[in-house]
Amino acid sequence: MTDPRTEELAARLAETRQRLDAALAAAGRDDRVDLVVVTKFHPVNDVARLARLGVHDLGENRVQEAAAKVADLSAAEPELAGGVRWNMIGHIQSNKAASVAGWADRVHSVDSAKVASGLEKGRARAASERDGVEPLPVLLQLSLDGDTSRGGVARADLPELADHVAGLGHLRLAGLMVVPPLEGDPAAHFADAAEVAAALRLDHPGAEEFSAGMSGDLESAIAAGSTCVRVGTAILGPRPVV
Ligand SMILES: *Cc1c(COP(=O)(O)O)cnc(C)c1O
Repeated sequence: MTDPRTEELAARLAETRQRLDAALAAAGRDDRVDLVVVTKFHPVNDVARLARLGVHDLGENRVQEAAAKVADLSAAEPELAGGVRWNMIGHIQSNKAASVAGWADRVHSVDSAKVASGLEKGRARAASERDGVEPLPVLLQLSLDGDTSRGGVARADLPELADHVAGLGHLRLAGLMVVPPLEGDPAAHFADAAEVAAALRLDHPGAEEFSAGMSGDLESAIAAGSTCVRVGTAILGPRPVV
């Protein structure tokens, strides 16, 4: 027996997976992309429904909301919670970074040395408190147009930030993330970002991931080589107004 909301989520999830497969085929790719389902603004009940439907990667973009949901899910459904990988995809204030390292399993939005150092501190603390804490995989968020008020590091500052992160023992530099600028053609922006991701990989071969693509533009991101799309609206529907 499933409730109507679960059926709705299952249907939209299936549609989204079909879009991913079609986009991979159209791009002539025979690999796969990670699907991070973005649950921001939606209740923890939806998170539990998605986890029951087999969703592994969940994404949140606000620190307080995310920490509360992570705690609520582990309290209510510890077994389900164990199968979830929490992705932090939104802006992190540097004074909040250490706490993010306590619950996040992957961070897409590292855009300054201060944030990286805060995450390092938090992860080091976690590793000293319990066994089996692996280095935290982090992606560097690139600002393509240099308007860093929308998050991201300017491209000129990316190599230095990458070197900084690579030197931190409790973080693992996993790749590049981009949110395309509002102006211009997303396909061109993704192609541009893919070149930056390739250059980063030359210096840091472990930085294999390229997190790009959302509900409205995942096809063009996959055409440009995205390895990870972050999809909210297409699966959960419009975000409730708060
Ligand atoms: C909200 C959000 C998404 C998901 O956007 P949709 O258009 O709802 O799919 C992806 N990435 C980031 C960084 C977000 O904040």
